[in-house]
Amino acid sequence: MADSADIFAKCRDWTAAREARAARTYPYYRPLTESGGGAEGVVDGRRVVIAASNDYLALASDPRVVEAGGAALRRFGTSCSGSRLLNGTLALHERLEGELAAFLRQPAALVTTTGFQANLALACLLGRGDLLLLDQHSHASLLDAARLGQARHLRFRHNDRADLARLLGASGTGTGSAAGTGAWVRGGRMAVTEGLFSMGGDLADLPGLAATLAEAAPARLVVDGAHDIGLLGEHGRGAAELLGAEGSVDLITGTFSKCFGSVGGFLAGPEEVIDYLRHRGRSVLFSAAAPPAAVGAALAALGIVRAEPERRRRVLALSACLHRLLRELGWDTGSSLMPVVPVHVGDDAACLRLWQGLFDAGVFANAILPPAVPPGRAMIRLSVTAAHTERHLAVIADAFATQARTAVPRARASLPALP
Ligand code: PMP
Repeated sequence: MADSADIFAKCRDWTAAREARAARTYPYYRPLTESGGGAEGVVDGRRVVIAASNDYLALASDPRVVEAGGAALRRFGTSCSGSRLLNGTLALHERLEGELAAFLRQPAALVTTTGFQANLALACLLGRGDLLLLDQHSHASLLDAARLGQARHLRFRHNDRADLARLLGASGTGTGSAAGTGAWVRGGRMAVTEGLFSMGGDLADLPGLAATLAEAAPARLVVDGAHDIGLLGEHGRGAAELLGAEGSVDLITGTFSKCFGSVGGFLAGPEEVIDYLRHRGRSVLFSAAAPPAAVGAALAALGIVRAEPERRRRVLALSACLHRLLRELGWDTGSSLMPVVPVHVGDDAACLRLWQGLFDAGVFANAILPPAVPPGRAMIRLSVTAAHTERHLAVIADAFATQARTAVPRARASLPALP
């Protein structure tokens, strides 16, 4: 039998991870054995500053959140042992949905097991003849929703409302004429973007995208607020609040795994849309419900997000400071000052060497390689949390200073153009 007939042959032939381990430049699946409140920990036997966590508001180790998770666990056990639809809905899920909808000023909300699943559920809105327009930098879960849905999908250039307008114009509406002749969309149109982009750390041009979509009414705008709900806006309602665009967003998706110190996802929007997702979203219907501890923790975190705006202010001040420190050293940290701090490197191998150099210097960061970013755009992704202190930022900056002088002296010379 030819080797290619063996479905497992590709696994044997795929040597990238093995080679990286052998070269001591393998940055993934490094086990954390001790966590000191989120800002420091022991990773793979080494005490490090953790600059790789999305726990932006430092709630995952907040005693109130931990206690609420524990209380839910003791009361309801470890698992819901089934889907929300059947046996897996707790009163706790419903309470979280009610409080979340009120927080986001939306008529209704649906809690899912992960943010990835919340995004996948969007697929049920996309029928044959519909068109989905995705920002080029959209998260993998949004792309997978597009692939799963029956609609045609196209990607507009990152944050480029003119390109969105071009695709909307080319697709037309309501005529049903053949593909290739322009106006081929028979059904509806929906655009999806992230509020704060998970890798670039930049904000979506929500007002611009919304204005473009308004010209193609009734095109819908969906915003994935995974990284910005809880973090941005005076009240923490995210990028849409910060940018004054809440009235233009038709549906919100998000996660509890970042600003809410837990795990789980959500969708929030019009009552009938949420009810449809509740009954038609396959990732909702056919997967076990978010477990009690996660829901209890998310509920407590939501209360803190609402009550303690100073956490947002603190992490934003710290992240601006880290951007400044790294830029002074000559590193390219993109165009924003957000707690998602991309350090653009470009070349994959240089990025892996830099990651290892940082780790050896006591900083645990994320190495982001394609396909999470386009080829040639490898980056170190740092994230700042409210648990960091100025001292932690200094350790991170010192680690980069050493790297600039030794391990990857050419990295800055080969920076790609910013998106
Ligand atoms: N959307 C975005 C933009 C994300 O960054 C992520 C997580 N990386 C998700 C959705 C998925 O969230 P979760 O971790 O809850 O599955």
